Amino acid sequence: MAMLKNIAASRSETLRKILLDEKKNILNRLRFTDCGGTSSETRMGFEKMQDNADRSVEELLKHVDVRITSTRAEVLDLIEVALARLDEGTYGICDECGCEIPEERLHVLPFVSRCVHCQEAADRLKKIRNEADRETGSTPPEETPLTEG
Ligand SMILES: [Zn+2]
Repeated sequence: MAMLKNIAASRSETLRKILLDEKKNILNRLRFTDCGGTSSETRMGFEKMQDNADRSVEELLKHVDVRITSTRAEVLDLIEVALARLDEGTYGICDECGCEIPEERLHVLPFVSRCVHCQEAADRLKKIRNEADRETGSTPPEETPLTEG
């Protein structure tokens, strides 16, 4: 346990830096949201990622997807939570199954609170819920009411 603690200590220093960096980035970008539209930065990053992605395109696309679908304010929240958990010593532990989230994943998405498997399951659940919402709720039925005649 003592050895594990040492590793965790140096690891958390690196990750804290990443989190604070990310936070700064988001705060900077939030200042420019008035301009509107998709930032070219996102697209450039995307292309750069594709460049060296022949190994695990899917994995990288997943990361990009999360970045785009999560609003910046949401991410900012997650970063705050992650920083708090870093202080508590529970950072990097999956919320769902309690396993250790691979450091590689934390470097790409320092604010995640789930491992890949649990995140996938959660995403799938979200998608299913969204689809169910669309089918039962917001879309009006195809049949036209009996008003003509
Ligand atoms: Zn998990």
